[in-house]
Amino acid sequence: MNGVWLMLILGSAVMLVSASADAQGKTTPARAKKRLLVVSHTAGFRHEEAIRSFEKVINELAEKSGQFTLEFCRNADDVKTMMSPDGLKKYDGVIFSNTTGDLGIPDLQAFLDWVKSGKAVIGLHAAADTYHNEPRFIEMIGGEFLTHGAQCEVEVIVEDPSHPAMAHLAPRFRVFDEIYEYKNIDRAKLHVLGSMDKHPNDGHPQAGQPGDYLLIWCKPYGKGRVFYTGLGHRGDVIESEWYKQHMLGGIRWALGIIKKPEPRIGQPKK
Ligand SMILES: [Zn+2]
Repeated sequence: MNGVWLMLILGSAVMLVSASADAQGKTTPARAKKRLLVVSHTAGFRHEEAIRSFEKVINELAEKSGQFTLEFCRNADDVKTMMSPDGLKKYDGVIFSNTTGDLGIPDLQAFLDWVKSGKAVIGLHAAADTYHNEPRFIEMIGGEFLTHGAQCEVEVIVEDPSHPAMAHLAPRFRVFDEIYEYKNIDRAKLHVLGSMDKHPNDGHPQAGQPGDYLLIWCKPYGKGRVFYTGLGHRGDVIESEWYKQHMLGGIRWALGIIKKPEPRIGQPKK
């Protein structure tokens, strides 16, 4: 057999392999997988149940999607090494899984610059209860935890059904969870994905009063992408199928696996 034929045969074999991978949609070659760091260190309140549930769920999502690999950053020592400027070089994004307080990232500005260079940040629930002492972090994540009342059922309005984190949800869906209110949050600086038009019925004096309460959003950060969902206090919420899809959509979008929609900020309220 001459060399040309050998090349042709090898070429077709490669094409067959990639075609079958595409058809299955999840057999992405290992080298193409994105690398995510899941941070669950807490320097304040610890959502033990939620952190445990999320570890289970994110492992399942990584395995089923085949699109990203995971490493876990669980305590202060892990943060020191894995989130140092050198440690971060291995990753394409970070998930803040109910982190709280001052995490002790060795060089916070270097971390933020790393995100700005085109990395992904995914935050759930208490990710907004992290680094109250650092306006730069709050600005990156998009809002700062202010308070919450009793757990309650709320109706969430889907503001962008074209977003992969929201596309599977009803235009107004109901969820029972602990619902945060935020400060240092500005609709004009966010691409709002989910909001409420009433104060949660959580026992606060304003309960049930009309208003504009943001809960899920995304935003550009330099060349990076940030996705945040306020949902994810309760283990049963995190482990529900709709939440897994919500999270996977947010992750794929933040990592740029799904490019659309382009993050746009300050869209009018629905
Ligand atoms: Zn909580």
